[in-house]
Amino acid sequence: MSGSSLESRLLPATPDLESYKDAWGFIEYIEGELFEISLETLGAANKVARKAGMKVGAVILGHKIPEEILRELIYRGADYVIYADHPELEHYNPIAYTEVLYQMIERYRPWALFFMADDLGRDLGPKVAYRATTGMAADCIDFDVEDFEFKLAGKTYKNLLAQIRPAAIWIAKIFTPRHRPQISGVRPGYFKPPPRDPNRRGDIIRFDPLIPEEAKRFRVVKVEKLPEEKDPLRDAELIVSLGMGITRRPGGEPDPVKAFEMAKELAEYIAKKLGVKTALGASRALIHAELKELEGKITHDMQVGQTGKAVSPKIYIAAGISGAIQHKVGMQSSENIIAINIDPNAPIFEIATHIINEDLYTAIPKIIEALKKRLGE
Ligand SMILES: Cc1cc2nc3c(=O)[nH]c(=O)nc-3n(C[C@H](O)[C@H](O)[C@H](O)COP(=O)(O)OP(=O)(O)OC[C@H]3O[C@@H](n4cnc5c(N)ncnc54)[C@H](O)[C@@H]3O)c2cc1C
Repeated sequence: MSGSSLESRLLPATPDLESYKDAWGFIEYIEGELFEISLETLGAANKVARKAGMKVGAVILGHKIPEEILRELIYRGADYVIYADHPELEHYNPIAYTEVLYQMIERYRPWALFFMADDLGRDLGPKVAYRATTGMAADCIDFDVEDFEFKLAGKTYKNLLAQIRPAAIWIAKIFTPRHRPQISGVRPGYFKPPPRDPNRRGDIIRFDPLIPEEAKRFRVVKVEKLPEEKDPLRDAELIVSLGMGITRRPGGEPDPVKAFEMAKELAEYIAKKLGVKTALGASRALIHAELKELEGKITHDMQVGQTGKAVSPKIYIAAGISGAIQHKVGMQSSENIIAINIDPNAPIFEIATHIINEDLYTAIPKIIEALKKRLGE
């Protein structure tokens, strides 16, 4: 099929593609509360906007949004804020929210728009994408700016948003070459919001929306706040994670219970001595191994990775973990990665900041001992 005949069979492209500029993060402000996690969209927007030579916009909807919240978004990495303030936007009303965001898109033409892949973003993002006749890549873990050669159409599109997400056993790169904005869901935990800088300045733009009549068919009758879920893994500043390496030991008998106790001692010692939050994690292989002796100790909620949790602590210690891509995507944004592995070619070493090429059964006690010496015991 020639490029032009293929093109005629595709959904018509967004007119005037080149006029779309800037990367926006959708900020969740619900029931008078700024959802801190949605600031991660500004982290994603910052990464690509700086590379593409564009600005970062924060978009926020609500009613009686305090000015200090709008200013806060500038301090947290937005170059400008566009907000709509209306009684119909006080609660999350999917019809009104979709329509107002669509009106903002029509007016300001953003190149990319990021939603948090949480309950609200997963509901709203696809609705906005449908309304704006564009695509959406859900649950992305990374972004870049790249050219894309659309071989079937015989065209190369320049400076597109590369939307990166796991797909079964692969990491897929998704492009939206012919439509704008390029809309993505950002998986929680993968982008740190930019550090707060109260010296940053930016424009705060009020947008007066037209609320469609049908939005009034949607009524919030009751709002109930669910108890906050505490997640030790996501809150932790240091994580000690164990993998299948605890079941193997060159030249010795492996003792998974002993390995678990050593990891626990290390995490607890650091928590006690340095007053930081610590937690234990695990690879999926170790969890799925369901070792009898570790029943109740290694549990499903400890899984780090693509089908587990995304974490980005200050220090991530991976002991006896090979570094399969599905594990790496859940922890590679940690500030420091200490990898303990007997295999000098273990893939985890590729992303480690500190490499310990040694048996974990000897390495972990050495770390504890070194810490004790350092801390004067
Ligand atoms: C769709 C899909 C989703 C997945 N999601 C996840 C996920 O969310 N999280 C996840 O973790 N995995 C996930 N996996 C599984 C992933 O592919 C790997 O199988 C898994 O991460 C491997 O776990 P591991 O590193 O503990 O085990 P292994 O790959 O067996 O590695 C064990 C490592 O320990 C080292 N070792 C052995 N003995 C010692 C010792 N005494 N001291 C030090 N090092 C030692 C070895 O050299 C090796 O590198 C997923 C897979 C699929 C297909």
